[in-house]
Amino acid sequence: MTSRDECVGLDQKDPLAELRSEFILDDSLIYLDGNSLGPLTTSSRERVRTATEREWGEGLVRSWGSAGWMEQPTRLGDRVARLIGAGPGAVVVADTLTFLLAKLLGTALELRPGRTTVITDRANFHSDLYIAEGMARLTSRGVRVVAIDRNRLDEYLNDDVAVVMLTHVDFRTGEMLDLSGITARVHQAGALMIWDFAHSTGAVPLDVTTANVDFAAGCTYKYVNAGPGGPGFAYVAPRWHAEIRNVLPGWLGHVAPFDFEETFRPAPGVRQLVTSSPSVLALAALEGALDVWDRVDMSEVRTKSLALTDLFIELVEETLPGEFEIATPRSHDQRGSQVALRHSEGYGIVRALLERGVIGDFRDPDICRFGFAPLYVRYVDVYDAVGHLVEVLEKGEHQDDRFRVRHAVT
Ligand SMILES: *Cc1c(COP(=O)(O)O)cnc(C)c1O
Repeated sequence: MTSRDECVGLDQKDPLAELRSEFILDDSLIYLDGNSLGPLTTSSRERVRTATEREWGEGLVRSWGSAGWMEQPTRLGDRVARLIGAGPGAVVVADTLTFLLAKLLGTALELRPGRTTVITDRANFHSDLYIAEGMARLTSRGVRVVAIDRNRLDEYLNDDVAVVMLTHVDFRTGEMLDLSGITARVHQAGALMIWDFAHSTGAVPLDVTTANVDFAAGCTYKYVNAGPGGPGFAYVAPRWHAEIRNVLPGWLGHVAPFDFEETFRPAPGVRQLVTSSPSVLALAALEGALDVWDRVDMSEVRTKSLALTDLFIELVEETLPGEFEIATPRSHDQRGSQVALRHSEGYGIVRALLERGVIGDFRDPDICRFGFAPLYVRYVDVYDAVGHLVEVLEKGEHQDDRFRVRHAVT
């Protein structure tokens, strides 16, 4: 079994180790929930301070031009693009993820006017399911959403399928789907593909260009560390730029917002997907977080992510044999950057760990979820987290009465 000393040694050799100092993290915490809310970086804190005090406080309305607020959605889109393998001009930052999925689904449906089926995954994040249903109801041609077992996708692909909308890394189990393989099969059926990258962006290397992805959207407050409620981003493959039509058009997606024209004339490319004013301060936080990402090689992130998740699985299996069902795939090419442990008393376990300063989260019905964000999680954190887990179970701390009542946010 890997020892604590060996973990210390792995941290000393880690090429990403120095990045941890960019984060404001209390050393008494082991933070394994960056898949839900990434921690604050000093660069975000500084960027938000500048945007608040100087740009807003002193510059006032002049800052729309002088501080480049107007161009934030596309300027930051070009920086997020690097994380997903997109070229310049193909990504826009706006809204939050659920809204962007609505816009992408709306535009994709209009690109397949003769077809009436949208396929999604029954195990998808509930917000993705709700918004797909809502968008289907808004169409005049009777579009229906079919939520399937994603492993049986091929059985459902036929010439009525307009769009397939899937999440690339499962939010519960951390299973990663085959981006290019599934996209190719969907295209063969004449349908369009929308990928949700919520648990992929900043977690695994992505290449939308090679995978021939049509549309994708993600959030920035998980692994990207842009802060609570941070903005979403949308990717549209350049081949669709001339044909897309924002189903929720607004003035800031107009080619000339300050002409105040009566009819909508779209800005070129992804810019038209912007509906309303950018959330300048939230975008400033993202800008700061991206300063850290600019220094990061995604292949190094992937190598460390797999090493951390492998180590966690190894230690859990060796110290607590048979205690958990490991819901996350062993196979590297099917794993995101989290590990999900199933346990009938999972909620109490997560709460007891929380009291010991090990922060993970719980997802119904029985999943203890631990995210391993390679920019700041150390090998020694993995070792110590498993040590706490062993003690929680040995002492039965998770069975305490105070964990019988659920918190509203798990
Ligand atoms: C986190 C998450 C969301 C959240 O969307 P918001 O609109 O940004 O709140 C949506 N889909 C998936 C798969 C997620 O994991």
